[in-house]
Amino acid sequence: MARADVIIENGTIVIEGGVFTADVVIVGERIAALTLDASTWQAGERIDASGLWLLPGGIDAHTHFEEPDPRMLEGFASGGAGAAAGGLTTVVEMPQAHPTTTTAEHFREKRRLVEQNAIVDMALWAGAIGLPGQTACDLAGMAGEGAAAFKSFMASSSPFFPAVDHGQLMWVMREAARLDLPYGLHAEDHQLLADGLNRMREAGRTDPLAHAESRPPLVETIAVNTALLLAAETGCQVHICHVASAGALRLIREAKARGVRVTAETCPQYLMLNTDDLVRLGGFARCAPALREQAEVDAIWEYVFDGTIDLITSDHCPYTIESKRAGREDIFQAPLGLAGVQTLLPSFFSEAVVKRGLPLERFVAMMAGNPARLFGLFPRKGNLAVGADADITLLDPAATWTVTVDDVLHKQKWTPYEGKEITGRVVRTVRRGETIFDDTRKGDDRVAAAPGSGRFLKRGYGDTT
Ligand SMILES: [Zn+2]
Repeated sequence: MARADVIIENGTIVIEGGVFTADVVIVGERIAALTLDASTWQAGERIDASGLWLLPGGIDAHTHFEEPDPRMLEGFASGGAGAAAGGLTTVVEMPQAHPTTTTAEHFREKRRLVEQNAIVDMALWAGAIGLPGQTACDLAGMAGEGAAAFKSFMASSSPFFPAVDHGQLMWVMREAARLDLPYGLHAEDHQLLADGLNRMREAGRTDPLAHAESRPPLVETIAVNTALLLAAETGCQVHICHVASAGALRLIREAKARGVRVTAETCPQYLMLNTDDLVRLGGFARCAPALREQAEVDAIWEYVFDGTIDLITSDHCPYTIESKRAGREDIFQAPLGLAGVQTLLPSFFSEAVVKRGLPLERFVAMMAGNPARLFGLFPRKGNLAVGADADITLLDPAATWTVTVDDVLHKQKWTPYEGKEITGRVVRTVRRGETIFDDTRKGDDRVAAAPGSGRFLKRGYGDTT
């Protein structure tokens, strides 16, 4: 009798190729077989998945768990706990940190911290700030250390991560194309944004809507237009982060049709929240791009359905309740960013699949397959198949629940989705054969993984045997 470590029985497999019934046989860290009847296998552990759907482990390609950071507002362990509870087995961590990841040395230090603290598997973005702050050698060095992609800001965000001007953008695109790495952009136009902020200041505006009015969708559309023109010129694979502008998405759709190498992501906050929520939540809804009016939100949904948007990410940021509260008097005092890694997968499932009828195959492509492909992790990641890592999210598709901060496992205990009704609940998360989250346990014990059990994933991991 063949011997398995774990068998997940009686569940329904949901993958890009379709939906079917099978038992999953796990040996070591990998899926050894998908079979109609695993009763002939011996197993160390048998998990009954009756009534549950088995999805490829979710991948969040945009997190800010922020190590190293002496303040430790999040960290790879606590952020990973939130990710695991949200059905995610891999995240791709952004280069914002102290220091920003801009050299091979910074990158190696961050990799060491992953190996020490991570709970889910982690790939790493590398920061691109362009000449003269950075050389071609720095970019090549980070690529050599296994960076998943480069990331730049087109509008100034923080003094620690300067924006690239058009010349620097063009230069990084040429280097990224040469190194064959994707290049992710925070695409807002620097000058239009500065002008919008000035207009609000001169008008004495500090109310929540002043934030949205300072950076309307056009600020994004113009930046995306520039990025697409340069991508066509350089042949660089460009990825537009957190798109929240229907005009930008129309340009991306047209560029894709012309053969420009471009992918796009959006986030649940641009699909589930709007400017009414910005007024209601104040600083707790301040993010960049800003939340949009409902008409814009409705228009963005069309691009989820037509395939222009390739992935859904959280853009999870770890700001404290106190710092977000500072937006009550003056919205511009609240830092930019929302908590969201734990709600990403179930909230998108509920809104896209249950409410709007997004095909399941497309849902798993956006949550797992597409990010795995983009960051060189496919087919070992993002793929529930024989030979792949046994990363599996067990979802109860019919369970309805209400988002409450009491459930939150990441470090900063707030969520902009408090009180939202969600259909579809993550009941267990399996990462490389190990249960790292089990909803039947209580409180913090629901996360079962040790810090450091997560693995650093270099670009190209997907092809390793
Ligand atoms: Zn971000």
